[in-house]
Amino acid sequence: MARPVEVAENVSMIDDQLYSIPQHGSVYLLNEKKKALIDSGPVTSARVVLDGIRESGVRPEDIDYLIVTHIHLDHGGGAGLLIKNMPKARVVVHHRGAKHLIDPTRLVSSALAALSRGERDLSQETELVPIEAERIKAVSDGDTIELGEQQVLRIIEAPGHAPHELCVYESRNNGLFSGDAAGLSVAENKVLVMVNAPPSFDADLSIATLKRLMALKASRIYFAHFGMSCEVQPKLQLAIDTLQAWDDIMTEAVREDALDGVAERLLIQAVTALAPMRKGWPVLYEYLAKYDMPMSVDGYLKYYRDKRGVELNKRGNGESN
Ligand SMILES: [Zn+2]
Repeated sequence: MARPVEVAENVSMIDDQLYSIPQHGSVYLLNEKKKALIDSGPVTSARVVLDGIRESGVRPEDIDYLIVTHIHLDHGGGAGLLIKNMPKARVVVHHRGAKHLIDPTRLVSSALAALSRGERDLSQETELVPIEAERIKAVSDGDTIELGEQQVLRIIEAPGHAPHELCVYESRNNGLFSGDAAGLSVAENKVLVMVNAPPSFDADLSIATLKRLMALKASRIYFAHFGMSCEVQPKLQLAIDTLQAWDDIMTEAVREDALDGVAERLLIQAVTALAPMRKGWPVLYEYLAKYDMPMSVDGYLKYYRDKRGVELNKRGNGESN
């Protein structure tokens, strides 16, 4: 098991072994006068995350805030279980996501629908622990949380990947916790892919969010998948370019009246971007190519159909959602 790594001053990264895959999911611990955890990881990672907190020299009992970047199961799914070990922690969540942490029923059914391919075992993921309303702190753009004199967190609403996504700016290191708003930067930051998760992905909002994040001129970006990078602006620009490349494929397909098969073209584009991982990260490569990228294509096509009004009635073109 990988030990927590100090990726910036007073910021440790815990590899939460997301879905039993190393270097797939990161949870961050901010060790200041007050202590905060960024993302919980899924239910299945709770034990690993608690061990990681202790290994970083912090007692879970001393955590003040558990901030979830969004309520997707791999980010906020474990929150209810984790706070059973964090008696004073409040769960900080986007105001649009709060009600789903209090009553996770809809969250679970929507996650199952998004992953309806049936190949992934979600049985454990559906056992979410509801969170009492009193323990939730719903936040909005511009809200701040002071952890110490030199560490003030600022909430940035970051819609696109999901409407309930937020990023967190941290003042001590001029750093940005990006959740999934800037995509997945994996394989030691060699590969960046966007995950356009159904049912609420919005490409226009996603690009607008990325431009806002660029304007921060942060020195570090902490990806939820996976780890820290100091190449902030190039990563954010690459995220924009990746979305633009998909838009180009769609625009051409509409122009040429060639929507049949556009799902395959998007998928090929996405999987080709993962190619450098095949050697060093075969398990994560397999996972992303088999699950995340097809889901991303579904989410993208759904967005195009619902928000851009493009007819996608043929089999395999977003109709699975
Ligand atoms: Zn994620």
